Amino acid sequence: MDLSRSARPAWCEIDLDALAHNVRSIRSMLAPGVRFYAVCKNNAYGCGTRETALTMLEAGADAFAVSDPEDAQRIRAAGVDAPILLYASTTPDAAAAVAEMGLIATIHDFDGLEAFARAGRSVDVHVEVDCGYGRLGFTPDEWAAVFERLRRAKNLRVIGLYTHLAFVEEAAAVERQAGLFERSAVMARQAGFENLELMAASSRVLLGYPELNLTAVNPGRMLYGMIEAPWLENADVRPVIRAIKSRVLQVKTIPADFPIDDARHKAAPGSLKTAVIAFGFKDGLSRQPAGGTVLVKGQRARIIGVRATEHTVIDVTDIPGVAAGDEVVIVGSQGGETIDGHEAVATYKMAMIELLPRMTLSLPRVYVDGGAHR
Ligand SMILES: *Cc1c(COP(=O)(O)O)cnc(C)c1O
Repeated sequence: MDLSRSARPAWCEIDLDALAHNVRSIRSMLAPGVRFYAVCKNNAYGCGTRETALTMLEAGADAFAVSDPEDAQRIRAAGVDAPILLYASTTPDAAAAVAEMGLIATIHDFDGLEAFARAGRSVDVHVEVDCGYGRLGFTPDEWAAVFERLRRAKNLRVIGLYTHLAFVEEAAAVERQAGLFERSAVMARQAGFENLELMAASSRVLLGYPELNLTAVNPGRMLYGMIEAPWLENADVRPVIRAIKSRVLQVKTIPADFPIDDARHKAAPGSLKTAVIAFGFKDGLSRQPAGGTVLVKGQRARIIGVRATEHTVIDVTDIPGVAAGDEVVIVGSQGGETIDGHEAVATYKMAMIELLPRMTLSLPRVYVDGGAHR
């Protein structure tokens, strides 16, 4: 049985050349010696960690950052032995096992600190400090105690401090958080920690506040070309998720006496020509909101209604010659037309870092690159 021929026709295309370009573009924004952690959480934002890690390393990333040990294993499976920072994601009971993985672990609370201190082997760690996000990490009132405790935890080698900044749209909020981060670094130094890596720059900080690049950066969405307005201006990045595609399963003209709830059918019963495509919310395209646009035969076709589990109905009344097997583009280009990630975000009302990975993680991924990385 030829599975590739019998497979359901829904897939996505990941552009490794675009990824390499984006890595080089970010590298060119950094002062020499700044450590570049490529963020690969959520299976490299849906692009596939195992398939993309080597490209990122070759294009100029120094290290990786993930939130799930499975993503760390995917990087190792790609044959990459660069440093991997595991963001705060370890419960105390898992610390001993994480300590065995050879990662840079994150110390984000006291219970975790004690668990790693008991791990029975030396572990490189980053300390996460919370400067205003209100999520993971130590709050300022805890800093003195945590650095004092870390000084006595002989098996833990503190290599840096990181923070994740909130409200990056507001310069004043960023300035206040950056001031607190600087204070945490001073306190660490006073406790005797020298040459620590200081990292506060995710994608939008890197683009909007280059003075916060400090000694290490950790961009994620920008690597994959998923930066949205208003940050696009200084961002020379290309979409790595180049296309999301399906095919037509059936074309038919809806009989006039069918009770289909569609404005066009009601206005001119018997004239609505539809195509059903092999794509639905199973493929990550949410059931609602109804509507949207796809490309077929190089033309725009509107989606009729909501998505079903594995099927979507489109209106091809005005597009001649559509037949079963024709390629349909949900995101990407066909003929002279393009539906880019920004249009998809506006249509489906979801942030790009949610919408695109939902789809690519549900689909077979095809890697395209002109051959250089295969
Ligand atoms: C996801 C994440 C980043 C990267 O954020 P982007 O906005 O995608 O660049 C940086 N730091 C932490 C702690 C993160 O969880």
